[in-house]
Amino acid sequence: MDGRGTVRSRVDTVTEVRATALSLESVTRRHGRGGGRGTLALDAVSCMVPAGSFTAVVGPSGSGKSTFLRCAAGLDRPTSGTVRVGGTDLGKLSEAALTRLRRDRIGFVFQSHALNLVPSLSIEENVVLPLVLAGADPVDERVLARGRALLDRVGLTGVGARGPAALSGGQQQRVAVARALVTVPDVVFADEPTASLDPESAELVLGLLRNAVRADGRTVVMVTHDPAAARWADTVLTMDGGRLR
Ligand code: ADP
Repeated sequence: MDGRGTVRSRVDTVTEVRATALSLESVTRRHGRGGGRGTLALDAVSCMVPAGSFTAVVGPSGSGKSTFLRCAAGLDRPTSGTVRVGGTDLGKLSEAALTRLRRDRIGFVFQSHALNLVPSLSIEENVVLPLVLAGADPVDERVLARGRALLDRVGLTGVGARGPAALSGGQQQRVAVARALVTVPDVVFADEPTASLDPESAELVLGLLRNAVRADGRTVVMVTHDPAAARWADTVLTMDGGRLR
């Protein structure tokens, strides 16, 4: 199932990758001390996110959106249930393998542009960082070209040599989108990506996510409390009390 070993299982995995980018099967996450009751932040959540789709996860504060995203993206382990990204069962991975999967097969755009970019790196170094962390040579022309192509894609041609501080918050968030796409990930997770932006910058960022789905076939899962942002998605999942409504 997870592609180890035979050619047959590899073919099965690739087929599954195309069909379903992300699936949760009866995923429960209880926060709190071991064995105690704690808080049931996710209560037997099941869903399938098709490859090449844009999904918004909405719901009131405390409904479990962040916990959903953290479990789905392999940043947190469910108390029970199964999460699969591109057919890989995250629960079967060691911490090291999970870290590699997050780096190579998942893109992240966080809420605040201040958290997204490394201030001491140039903008183009930020964009290609996931490739470099995976072992690519940062001065390899193909790596640099990929970084430039993505900056072009997000409308920031020619700014690559500057530092993040030279850009506005909205522009920095567009760099974060470029970086999230650089590895051609199975899923891009965006956590309130427009929360700190003015409406015009927010529209630009949402348009880039939309375009990554429509033009490039990427899969985007976005947590948002903003109904206007959710309207850019193909599918809206509503959370309430740790469940999908
Ligand atoms: P949302 O993102 O919709 O605001 P969260 O996933 O952050 O919801 O939280 C869901 C529930 O889980 C809330 O009741 C919250 O207080 C609780 N919770 C979230 N994270 C923790 C944690 N680390 N420890 C204890 N409780 C938590």
